[in-house]
Amino acid sequence: MLERMLEIQAIDLEIEALEMQAARIPNQIGASTRDVAVQQQKIETGRARRIALEKERDSLELDLESKTVTMQKWETQLFSIRTNKEYQAMLVEIGSIKTDIGLLEDRILELMDEVESASKALQTQKEHLEKAKVDAAEQKLQLDNELERLHAEIARLSDKRGPLVPVDDTKVYHLYERSRNGKKGSAVIVPLNDNMCSACHMQVRAQTINEIMADETVHTCTCSRIL
Ligand SMILES: [Zn+2]
Repeated sequence: MLERMLEIQAIDLEIEALEMQAARIPNQIGASTRDVAVQQQKIETGRARRIALEKERDSLELDLESKTVTMQKWETQLFSIRTNKEYQAMLVEIGSIKTDIGLLEDRILELMDEVESASKALQTQKEHLEKAKVDAAEQKLQLDNELERLHAEIARLSDKRGPLVPVDDTKVYHLYERSRNGKKGSAVIVPLNDNMCSACHMQVRAQTINEIMADETVHTCTCSRIL
């Protein structure tokens, strides 16, 4: 009787281990999906950055254009100025606007470089995203197959277990089922070890041990495991 129960227990432990494996799979699929989302987010950030740089460049280009027009206007006016004092003052103005124009030109060149590297970075990120998508799809396929395999294995073990369940003398089986609830993943029927329950190390009375050895009775330990 106990032998058959041990067989059932071995199958149950195997099924529980497989179920735990199967339960982890949705999380693993979720992780690769999250990776795709992270890559997607990086692209959004990169795109926003490039747009901001382009906007700044466009606005500075407008500024440059209007300052250049002003400077040219002032340079033309220079010829019609009659007094030396006004002429000098205009030269100072022109010098100052030329400095501004130079600074604008420098900054615009910088921005052009920055837009270019932002575009390159974006391109790289797009490649990463594509790779993450391919990886995620591949991994999902693999994990789906694994899940299918686990379910098939669980079904096979359940089929094997079915005929082992006792029909007539069900007392021990019920005891086993009751103890098993709440002890998922660990053995319920445990061997004696040095006259102790090998799970909780509770000392077992000699009388009980004799009964167990004679295979006359099933003993339930205080830890609710079956000895
Ligand atoms: Zn015990």
